[in-house]
Amino acid sequence: MTVTVTSLGEAERARLIDAAIRARASAYAKYSQFTVGAAILADDGTIYSGANVENASYGLTICAERVAVHTAVAAGQRKFVGLAVATSGGLTPCGACRQVLAEFCVELPIVLVDVDQHNSAREVQFSALLPECFRLA
Ligand SMILES: [Zn+2]
Repeated sequence: MTVTVTSLGEAERARLIDAAIRARASAYAKYSQFTVGAAILADDGTIYSGANVENASYGLTICAERVAVHTAVAAGQRKFVGLAVATSGGLTPCGACRQVLAEFCVELPIVLVDVDQHNSAREVQFSALLPECFRLA
């Protein structure tokens, strides 16, 4: 499979970062206190955001990235051109979220926002986070 690396324009990147930071404020992180905001940009320019939602039965907790992707898919979106994730430390998506993203993205620029460092951001490519991912098609 050929992977085409894509990148975000400055305006798209700024919109995504802002949406991820705003989404983080809605996180329900009652147990870990680790709040995450995510925003995914569909190819029609629409942004869908999500925040982590924890549960007393820990296994039922869902990450911000999956909330954003599932919200977008439920709205009919299937193609994505960018993702931003806002956390303390600018962390990468977990393995489960990477596999969910793999269902819809061969390549995707991901902006990792560190809210502890004045919202500094670095961009990574999806293929670097989950090389040779599991795909049926
Ligand atoms: Zn995750």
